[in-house]
Order: sequence, then structure tokens, then C-alpha cells
Amino acid sequence: MIGGILPKKDPPMPSPSLPNEYAVELTPPDISAYREGNTGIPYIWRFEGSQPGPHAMISAIVHGNEPAGAIALDWLMQRDFRPARGTLTLAFMNIAAYEAFDPADPNATRWVDEDFNRVWARDVLEGDRDSVELRRAREVQPAVAAADRLLDIHTMQHLAPPVMIAGTRPKGVALAREIGVPRIVISDAGHAAGVRMRDHGAFDDASSDASACLIECGQHWEASAGTLAKDATARFLVALGMAGDDLVAEAGGEKPEPQVFFDVTEAVTIEQGFTFAQPFTGGEIIENAGTLLGHDGDRAVVTPYDECMLVMPSKRLWPGQTAVRLARRTT
Ligand SMILES: [Zn+2]
Repeated sequence: MIGGILPKKDPPMPSPSLPNEYAVELTPPDISAYREGNTGIPYIWRFEGSQPGPHAMISAIVHGNEPAGAIALDWLMQRDFRPARGTLTLAFMNIAAYEAFDPADPNATRWVDEDFNRVWARDVLEGDRDSVELRRAREVQPAVAAADRLLDIHTMQHLAPPVMIAGTRPKGVALAREIGVPRIVISDAGHAAGVRMRDHGAFDDASSDASACLIECGQHWEASAGTLAKDATARFLVALGMAGDDLVAEAGGEKPEPQVFFDVTEAVTIEQGFTFAQPFTGGEIIENAGTLLGHDGDRAVVTPYDECMLVMPSKRLWPGQTAVRLARRTT
């Protein structure tokens, strides 16, 4: 580079590694056969149905240590699934982090340089910062923006009930209803640390009908997370008229329960350093307002209302990150 300015590379986050108390039951599938893609973007595959219809994307491994989504996409690829209508894009996202996965230190490969799911604001994508994750996000962004229905498959740090994250718009909740699993659906506005892929562009634009859902299928490595990833994938494709009910039967999921709906009312964003008052894992409904959740430095953080649900308490308790989010049941 002649007289050029090197892109800024502020190491935005510490290593994601954490002590691990959970068994690694799932084996991340070898996805190297999918490297070439058929879209000009590595690991991004697109298939056309014979009839017109929506453009759906199913995305996996936004976080490198979450193999459930890769299991679902590998299942569709292995059985040569083709949509009955519309366009289907299958996207393996954070390849570098996924390839580094080590079951002996399974939290260390959530990302390489930074969280791939916090870089989706336009000014960040179009800015001059550089990281492994930003390079990949810039590479896949056209494919993400081309989709008008997104199912983004994730899993969680703790053993806790699966949840669907529907974003801020009613259209996200409507998509969650159409998919029909899991039982708990949460409307939310994301994290102070940065915009998620599911909130990128048209997905969070009230004037567009593009909609997205992010499913958290359970603990990262529990066997049932792989089954739910396949089940939700099948139900998403059936809801969009791209697959028949036989795909749901083949996925082997459990019978769906009636859904319940919550709104995230606030995120506890860490200012100094956070410690939880109890070993919360998520999904707990705390009966009484004023119950101590933890301390941020010296500041006590308490439940603001009765029947307050804890959404995905984190173990990565650094300033600027979300410690936990608080949600209230709506219907
Ligand atoms: Zn994730």
C-alpha cells in the first residue's frame, strides 16, 4: 500500500474463551465440501424453486461455537433439498471461527476478532475498521440484503428453554408465529454493543415487509439443539410454501407447545463490572419487583416489575456488553 492508511484494527473484544461446564454432545459437521458456494461468495448457496415466491435465507454459525445451525444446513444440503417455490439461500457465516472450534475449549471460538453479530450497522459495515468478522460480514452482506425472510440459527451459553428472538417489529413476531416453534417468543431491540444481522437493513424497517427471526435452540452443545435447529428450519420452509409437511416429520422435532410472547423492556448494559447475585441461566420468571439480580460495580440491579423474565444472562461480563435482558409477558 503506497502512502495508504492501514485500516483501523482496534481489537474490539477480549478472547471469548470461558471455563466450560457443559458436555459437548454435538459434533460440528465438516462443511469444507460447501466452500465453493454457487453465488460467487464462499459458503453461500442459492436454490431456485419452479414457482415464484419469497427469497428466504437460513443462516448458521454466525457464532463459531454454535454447531446446531450447521447441522440443520448440512441436513438440507445432504438431502439435496430444493424449494418448491421462491429462492432459498443457505449461508454458513463465520467460517474462520467455526473451523477453529475445539471441543476441549469450546467457548474460545465464538469469534476470532469480534462478535460477528454486532457489526451490522451500516456505518460499521461501510466504515474503515477491519477484523476477520467485518471482512466476512462485508462479503456476505449482499446475500443477506437480498433475502426477504431470514431464519438465523443460534444457541445459548446456558442450559435454558429455547427462545425465538423476533426483533422490534410486529412482522418479526408474525414470522415467529408462522414458524410455530419454540414456545417462547421475545420481541427485543438488541444490544448496545452493536447491531445484529437479524436487524440489518430492511429487516428492521417498518416500511418493508422483509422479516427475520433469530432462534436460540438451547445450550450450544446439547443434542436437542441440533434437533430443534432442523425442526425450526423445516417449519420455516413449510410456512413459506417451500417444503411439504414431510420435512417436519423427517426433522424429528417434538410436538410444538402453544407459544407465549414477551417484550424485552430493558437490557442491563454493563458499565463497570457485573456480578450476578445468583447463578441465573435464563428463562427464570422472577416473581417480585425489587428482587436483586446482581451488582454493576457498587450499583444494585433489581427487577423493575413483578413476573420479570430473565433473557440470556451472559458470562462475558465486560463493560459495554449486555449482562442480561429483562422481559415482560404480553400474551
Ligand atoms: Zn449465537
